[in-house]
Amino acid sequence: MQPTIYAVGFGPGDVLHMTTQAVSVLETVDVIVGYTTYIQLLQEQFPDKQFRSTPMRQEIDRCKLAVSIALEGKTVALVSSGDSGIYGMTGILLEVIAAEQADVEVIAVPGVTAASAAAAILGAPLMHDFAVISLSDLLTPWEKIEKRLRAAAAADFVICLYNPSSKKRSDYLKRACQIIFEEAGQELVCGVVKSAGREGECAEVMYLSELEEYPADMFTTVFIGNSETRIIDGRMVTPRGYQNI
Ligand code: SAH
Repeated sequence: MQPTIYAVGFGPGDVLHMTTQAVSVLETVDVIVGYTTYIQLLQEQFPDKQFRSTPMRQEIDRCKLAVSIALEGKTVALVSSGDSGIYGMTGILLEVIAAEQADVEVIAVPGVTAASAAAAILGAPLMHDFAVISLSDLLTPWEKIEKRLRAAAAADFVICLYNPSSKKRSDYLKRACQIIFEEAGQELVCGVVKSAGREGECAEVMYLSELEEYPADMFTTVFIGNSETRIIDGRMVTPRGYQNI
């Protein structure tokens, strides 16, 4: 059998958000490889598995580790939170395998991404066209992030922000809000969800001017509504337009 790595998205954190395919793959593989924090989350649910972890920012090493285990003849799951193909490990894994010309097959197992888990908590913010933008400038220059924010706001997309803040980037969310306000030219309904499906989960609906000062952390997903997004009974809702027919 050709050596295989499963690129598994295990959802935002809650076991209930894990797909049955993800559970069955994680139960079957010999070794689970991932970022240290995520391995701790999974160890409780799969106590009998062999785990290998590498710290954050060591994505290439993590892929190489998974490849070397697969080439030893073991089946491997390389895990990401949410969906593995959305700011996760699937892309870099395919790149590393191509660069190493390793004879390894990759099977991607999709997961519930933070945007859909968080949207469900807030109400229905993503009922119309939306753009997902990461505020992390570790791998993307801030100028490009700003250009994307401007374009999405000018086109009246609902905007979903991943990586809205970290210790080194504490004012990025504020800068993003100011850019969006410049383009939208009006107050917008916004929502935030911290730690969806994990201990300490919390959510809040607010306006763009309040979002500027919101203390987002690295487990927060942020939504900025379009010009029609409303608050209905405390929930954030972007109308699809059914009631205009
Ligand atoms: N592959 C992941 C995204 C990784 S990028 C996915 O598909 O969900 C990391 C960002 O995802 C975080 O900065 C945060 O914006 C978001 N995120 C991840 N887990 C989250 C959670 N449990 N609750 C809220 N946002 C989360």
